[in-house]
Amino acid sequence: MKPLIIANWKMNPSTIKEAKELFDKVKNTGAIICAPFVYLSELKSDNLCAQNCYWESSGAYTGEISPNMLRDLGIAYVIIGHSERRMHFQETDEMINKKLKAALTADLKPILCIGEKKGENAKEVIEKQLKYDLDEISEKDLKKIIIAYEPVWAIGTGDFCESGRAKDALEFIKEKFNNKVLYGGSVNSKISKNYIDVGFDGLLVGGASLKADEFIEINQNV
Ligand code: PEP
Repeated sequence: MKPLIIANWKMNPSTIKEAKELFDKVKNTGAIICAPFVYLSELKSDNLCAQNCYWESSGAYTGEISPNMLRDLGIAYVIIGHSERRMHFQETDEMINKKLKAALTADLKPILCIGEKKGENAKEVIEKQLKYDLDEISEKDLKKIIIAYEPVWAIGTGDFCESGRAKDALEFIKEKFNNKVLYGGSVNSKISKNYIDVGFDGLLVGGASLKADEFIEINQNV
């Protein structure tokens, strides 16, 4: 099966015009584009992904976006628990669990990001995050969750995780959940295939997804 490739644009590009231009260059890759909320409504595709959502479907939560709003916009996927949200916005496993449940109720496909920080034990962190993030989610719903293993120390640093080490984490996750598991962390066109070769079902690509030629090459190489 073709690997699932997700571009995570973070807070880039900086204007809607630039977002549309980048989108036009990479849309034929078939990759899922994960973009800031304001760009999602401007890009016409079945393969769009939000970068976050709230867990309530309505109410007095100024500035928040509900899973239903995303679904109404035709968005199929949502990233939940990205390390940047855990780190900069103090998202806890409890919050992530609520967001996952809300996204599933709205029929979105969640991409749950997990992974250890520098110096932490990968398996211990993965075990804890999976336990609490996936708490009380039904077997049927669990199967709909895509897991992205992203060692935090490898995100945006150019410090890539050796594929054998990533494979250990992958096998540990797959022992618990036979879900699709993606790899993310400074992936570029030279190393992208290594992760697919060790068994990952796809890739979550941040920085390299902003360079159209590089991103196209990543898609071609896997
Ligand atoms: C990410 O945004 O999750 C990511 C892995 O970014 P980068 O590829 O830049 O490390």
